Amino acid sequence: GKPALAPFGTTIFAEMTALATEHGAVNLGQGFPDTDGPQAMLDAAKAAIDGGRNQYPPGPGVPELLEAVAAHQSRFYGLELDPRSQVLVTVGATEAIAATILALCEPGDEVVTFEPYYDSYAASIALAGATRRTSVLRFPDFAVDEESLRAAFSPRTRMVLLNTPHNPTGKVFTRAELELVCALAREHDAWVVTDEVYEHLVFDDAEHVPVATLAGMGERTLTISSAGKTFSATGWKVGWVSGPAAAIAAVRAVKQFLTFVGSGPFQPAVAVALGLGDDVYAGLASSLQAKRDLLVAGLRSAGLEVSVPRGTYFVVADAAPIGAVDALAFCRELPARAGVVGVPVSVFHDDVDAARTLVRFAFCKRDEVLHEAVQRLGRN
Ligand code: PMP
Ligand code: GLN
Repeated sequence: GKPALAPFGTTIFAEMTALATEHGAVNLGQGFPDTDGPQAMLDAAKAAIDGGRNQYPPGPGVPELLEAVAAHQSRFYGLELDPRSQVLVTVGATEAIAATILALCEPGDEVVTFEPYYDSYAASIALAGATRRTSVLRFPDFAVDEESLRAAFSPRTRMVLLNTPHNPTGKVFTRAELELVCALAREHDAWVVTDEVYEHLVFDDAEHVPVATLAGMGERTLTISSAGKTFSATGWKVGWVSGPAAAIAAVRAVKQFLTFVGSGPFQPAVAVALGLGDDVYAGLASSLQAKRDLLVAGLRSAGLEVSVPRGTYFVVADAAPIGAVDALAFCRELPARAGVVGVPVSVFHDDVDAARTLVRFAFCKRDEVLHEAVQRLGRN
């Protein structure tokens, strides 16, 4: 038969970043910051290299990072984890997602998720031979639709794959929404895998609710995060997954044959970063909130209709008022026409009509870069 990944071509992020380079356009497409994370973390990586930590680290992760992840979950959320059996270090959240789905799903199982979804979800579900069943979050408020969510569950549901704060919409799921998802998961005896890579990128009075903190969910929830977003180190590819020991053991078994181990010197450095003060975490969120406000105002004055994000570093805007008919075609033209790159939200949908003219812009950029993007869009 056809290989599982046959329907998946070049990712939209690779395509749009290549266009940005080709046209010298301001890249608000792929989400990566253009400034570095905490100096203490950078210094710790250099010290690890100079200190000779350059051979294979232990498969599950270096002990100080396992302990730092457990300490982080306790410090911020009151979750108590055994670092040795309940935490696994992965090559970014991406590997955690793939390994978790491969570990817990058999061919024919169904995974319930929301759309738009992060692109690797669809690919990882396909790799496992499982089937995705989705419920649409609709612009501009992206609220959970109970009826379609219920309809996505079936006797074959093995897993719910959640993402809060949510890429690409910037939505932070409310406690009530999460309670509904969790009630359905319990009813169907399904795992909940929750991608919380944007856990510290939350604005205004929005509250990030870790799914594992909800009553009765600890035993069926696997939580995924990554240093990429929290410490502005997307190129380091250090992520982790935590949860019940038996499930983590299954994910660890898969991980052995995907990457064996993660990169050595970055792990102790991320352990240092996780232990930094609250000011480091809060500073990132407040800096990004100001950038959000800057880009939201700029997009509005350029004529786009904006959904104001409560989390992540993405904003979704409707480009129909400035002539978009099809977001993918629009985003392919925009670098040449306006010198700006965004990502079409439709590529994260099965139901592309739900996002026909929606574009995602990243605001994790220096203020002068955002100003330049807004000026260029305004001239267009
Ligand atoms: N999940 C979501 C929702 C993301 O936005 C990203 C990063 N773009 C990832 C996972 C992957 O994270 P990492 O780079 O740590 O693999
Ligand atoms: N997570 C980032 C985004 O959503 C980058 C993804 C990627 O390059 N694969 O833009």
